[in-house]
Amino acid sequence: MTTRLYSHPVFLEHLTPPGHPERPDRLRAIGRLLEDEAFAGLERVEAPRGEEAAVVAVHPSAYLEAIRRALPESGLVRLDADTTISPKSLDAALTAVGGATAAVDSVFAGTADNAFLAARPPGHHAETVTAMGFCLFNTAAIAARHAQRRHGAGRVAIVDWDVHHGNGTQEIFWSDPTVLYASTHQMPLYPGTGAASETGAGNIVNAPLGPGSGGAEFREAFRARVLPALDRFRPDLIIVSAGFDAHHRDPLASLNLTEADFEWATGQLLDRASQFSGNRLVSVLEGGYDLEGLAMSVGAHVKRLMKG
Ligand SMILES: [Zn+2]
Repeated sequence: MTTRLYSHPVFLEHLTPPGHPERPDRLRAIGRLLEDEAFAGLERVEAPRGEEAAVVAVHPSAYLEAIRRALPESGLVRLDADTTISPKSLDAALTAVGGATAAVDSVFAGTADNAFLAARPPGHHAETVTAMGFCLFNTAAIAARHAQRRHGAGRVAIVDWDVHHGNGTQEIFWSDPTVLYASTHQMPLYPGTGAASETGAGNIVNAPLGPGSGGAEFREAFRARVLPALDRFRPDLIIVSAGFDAHHRDPLASLNLTEADFEWATGQLLDRASQFSGNRLVSVLEGGYDLEGLAMSVGAHVKRLMKG
């Protein structure tokens, strides 16, 4: 298996206020862990800057321009209660898009079997015209559209195990049966969406978990809801919205997953990727706010991706 790791130093230059959980140290912690020799086999690639055409396939160009106009010369500008931008935020968000679309290109070209994008800001709360929840562009959604437009993928599945529901991804694909969106998340919790009754065009599968749920409940939700949906859908590409804030150490939520649970879920998705999508799987970092829990979980996830 060839696993690519996409990242870029500009991801450290998207700044947030002091004490904000979504901070550059998250990527520094991941970077330190991935220096271990266990990851020597990773193919490390600098993420290119994304094409604005890829962004505007999901977000209107007026939205992109509004973010460009809002960029400060220095300091921070607040877009909502918890989403801020700094001078380099647009560069970081566009490079996250570039990393995700390049990862999609590489799995379709066969130069990699799968890929992990260590980027920030995250993306899954960003709706068509609304930045929120630390997110500017919906990177996973843009990667899915890119796979369809550039590579003729008929069906793309986005599996989201971030502890928060990906309201943005759900909103973007709400009436689009060519994209399956399947999410496990804590409920009740921000942003408040993600009830099992929210099913879109039959392409939305929400598996909410109560506060305090652990690995057993998570795996059961995967087995009962997420995996059967993938088996019915038979995706040409699997994209993972890989947030690691369902880890028991995470300060923003109260699920109790361990690294082993993320490793298990990764294996289940790799199994479906080998069955349906020629191994093509692209994983995109979303949340995860305890530095140790995040780094250990990413390590388990990436190690499993490398095993294939
Ligand atoms: Zn999250």
